[in-house]
Amino acid sequence: MNIRIKDDTEHGNGTIYSFINCTILTMDNEDHYYPSGTIVIENDRIVDIGSSQDIVTRGHVIDMGNKIVLPGFINTHTHSPSPLFRGMADDLSLMDWLNKKLWPAEKNLTGEIAYWGTSQTCLEFLESGITTFADQYFYSESVAKAVETSGLRGFIAPSVFTNGSPETKDTIQAAVDFIEKYKGKEENTLIYPCIGPHAPYSCSSDVLKAVVEIASSYDLLIHTHISETMDENREIYELTGLTPTQYLDSLGILDQKVLAAHCIHLNQKDMEIFKEKKVRVSYNPVSNLKLVSGIMPFKELREKGILVSLGTDGAQSNNSLDLIKDLKTGVLIQKQQYNDATFISAKEALKMVTINGAKALDMDHEIGSLEKGKKADIIAMDMNKTNMNPLHRSVVSNLHSAIVYSADGSNVSDVIVNGKILMKDRQLMSMKRQEILKQTQKGAEVILKKAGLL
Ligand SMILES: [Zn+2]
Repeated sequence: MNIRIKDDTEHGNGTIYSFINCTILTMDNEDHYYPSGTIVIENDRIVDIGSSQDIVTRGHVIDMGNKIVLPGFINTHTHSPSPLFRGMADDLSLMDWLNKKLWPAEKNLTGEIAYWGTSQTCLEFLESGITTFADQYFYSESVAKAVETSGLRGFIAPSVFTNGSPETKDTIQAAVDFIEKYKGKEENTLIYPCIGPHAPYSCSSDVLKAVVEIASSYDLLIHTHISETMDENREIYELTGLTPTQYLDSLGILDQKVLAAHCIHLNQKDMEIFKEKKVRVSYNPVSNLKLVSGIMPFKELREKGILVSLGTDGAQSNNSLDLIKDLKTGVLIQKQQYNDATFISAKEALKMVTINGAKALDMDHEIGSLEKGKKADIIAMDMNKTNMNPLHRSVVSNLHSAIVYSADGSNVSDVIVNGKILMKDRQLMSMKRQEILKQTQKGAEVILKKAGLL
């Protein structure tokens, strides 16, 4: 349940808050910056934003103490119950990690344990300023229940595999059941159903064709992995004579709206297809580094105008779920890859985790920037911290740099999603931290013990 801060200014039209004394980075098209700004929200939307002298405050007035206020971060790739597998199998090769550790442990998952693992993910997201995220996993009903309880905005894609998942043999039917349950209720639940064919190597062509039909009939975003490793490319080539991208395109997948994670091993033709079919890319630098998968060709994708957003991937292949920390790593390895310190400015980097994330989910008309009429998905960062000092607020690029290169999630102090205050001065309003930590620890012990890994 989400708890609103007690407000004695309920008006006929709903709850109104005025946040004053904000240093606002709107991240809108014109990059409006208000060093001393005010934001007014009514129910779930921003109804006024600008310099304090131009805005009439109303409703419940909250002084933000000159914190930096910006759109909530958007994480475009994760597997929600993943903290259950955190730290259980590090420093292994990909195939050993999957075959000997992750898959045996995953087999023991239950809906209830998945609920707590997802709750832990939501807790970590909330505490580090992620307000919207894209998930791909099974036990989607448990995942959705946990996300709904947290108050975050979740794009939940039930994973689809040819050989079934630990939850069910028929992942297509499970996906359809989930979609039927949640489609059309997004405004109330903040759960946006998607569909998640796991990868070209784990889904047969028949399964992928079925996904195309479901995505097209329900108008869904397809969330998948493409060309994460060279092994994947080799396997698909041996099977089809095509690259994973060309193979998915031949089956009609890329004619749908597609969010593709990783996209590391793409050739020129693949990137032409991405451009033509408007495939949205989720860049997952830390997971890619940890599993030694390779480095995404950012420059080539950018030159073609392909949209790049950022993902943490799951805690099993990242450990941390702090998107803003990953942003720094992701930018730095690209500078190194192209031997160019000027490649990707801090402002461009920040767009990756705000407006580009919104575009990747087809939600840029609602979220991703702070603008009048958009949904109130807002975070504040407390810059009065050791790692942020000194800070020269008169130069806006200094703020971009501070957030991308100096900050981490713990600088986020306040989180509002859909007009609801979920964290105030790092105090949680919707989630019970201790209970979640305890239950996740307990659940992780159960599944690891059953798998003989503890
Ligand atoms: Zn993934």
